[in-house]
Amino acid sequence: MTTELFREFDHPSFRLAVAQFDEAAHLIHLSPNLWERLKAPHRSLCVSVPIRMDNGDVKVYRGYRVQHDISRGPTKGGIRYHPEVCLGEVAALAMWMTWKTAIAGLPYGGAKGGVAVNPAGLSSGELERLTRRYTAEVFPLLGPDKDIPAPDIGTTPQVMAWIMDTYSQQVGFSVPGIVTGKPLSIGGSLGREEATGRGVADITVETLRQNERSITDATIVIQGFGNVGSHTARLLQQRGARIVGISDQHGGLYNSKGLDIPTIFDCWIQERTPISSLTGFGDQVSNEDLLTLPCQVLIPAAVADQITDRNASNLSCQFVVEAANGPTTLAADAILEDRGIVMVPDILANAGGVIVSYFEWVQDAQRFSWKEADIHARLHEIMISAFQRIVALSKEKKVSMRMAALMTGIQEVAHAHQCRGLYP
Ligand code: NAD
Repeated sequence: MTTELFREFDHPSFRLAVAQFDEAAHLIHLSPNLWERLKAPHRSLCVSVPIRMDNGDVKVYRGYRVQHDISRGPTKGGIRYHPEVCLGEVAALAMWMTWKTAIAGLPYGGAKGGVAVNPAGLSSGELERLTRRYTAEVFPLLGPDKDIPAPDIGTTPQVMAWIMDTYSQQVGFSVPGIVTGKPLSIGGSLGREEATGRGVADITVETLRQNERSITDATIVIQGFGNVGSHTARLLQQRGARIVGISDQHGGLYNSKGLDIPTIFDCWIQERTPISSLTGFGDQVSNEDLLTLPCQVLIPAAVADQITDRNASNLSCQFVVEAANGPTTLAADAILEDRGIVMVPDILANAGGVIVSYFEWVQDAQRFSWKEADIHARLHEIMISAFQRIVALSKEKKVSMRMAALMTGIQEVAHAHQCRGLYP
């Protein structure tokens, strides 16, 4: 952090996002004026969210919505319910969304939101009241042409449905395009729920292919078995990979012969059974040890700050594909690069979610539903063409894929600012 301006955002993820931005901005010789503008979010709102609990007490939660950049279109980004959500984390995630949407060529800027809450500790009624009050508090920022939320950690299609309903009640008519990741019956898209995992799977297969390896029998470890991790595991296993390790926040399982992912997936879908309490599938392993298990591809799909200078030297993989946002620190990046471990960065690898969210938003505007096969094919096409452009730039400029991805995203946004100029 360089100036007083950023004190309110101080957080490890924001420091990481800014350090990555600074390095890439330096490589593309970004003009100092744009550098200052893009380093801090365009707009941020902190709100108190009071709700009546089931026992009659009133509890107040902290909520946030941050829009990082609006030069290329309305802003887009998930809403996170997690006890550690804070302004700095949300600001970092919003900045990453800006680069991600630009890399994928989507007409959006980045945003993110969240509430500091453990959703598992709330009843369904409390969760609904929290969601509706949060939506009412950030209402002035939202709109299908202004800022469009989506699911992230701790939020679900049901939460998106409550946001859609609350927004629609305020304006007096149904506005399906106000959120993405909704249930199908109110304007959701086929393929949205699995989209991030499907994109991660597409990129993993392509990374192996580019490096003359095959997905068939590749060994894969995935940290986090939520929306993204579970679908990534399921889809990679279907394509012939051996998923040898998986985990959730309580711990994980390891089986060198490959875990029975279809059965584990069914248990998780039906009962949300914690991974470490499943018996008969493999050996129990801690989250810390999971990251250093021998495998070809390690996929962090949980939270930020997991691969650091403390464990990067001990990783036993050849590829890291970042499904989570911000799982690797800059110091760890350098260690992995020295060790010849190929790193596919988050802003490329996990873009599948926002790409299919964009398809959902377009379908809502068209009042027309696309076929699932078309959604998968268009997602694949955008992911692979972004991947190929970034691999080519990384070779041409002799920089890591993370730097090539950031350079691509920042350049796109800088062009938009240059075209539009500075108001007034
Ligand atoms: P989720 O809430 O569905 O699942 C999160 C998973 O991580 C759960 O299995 C949880 O138990 C596990 N977890 C939480 N804390 C952990 C810890 N300290 N150690 C190990 N595991 C832990 O969330 P999700 O939607 O699957 O998101 C996962 C990651 O992917 C996040 O970083 C999110 O920002 C990113 N992401 C999500 C989407 C999306 O469409 N949902 C899109 C892009 C990126």
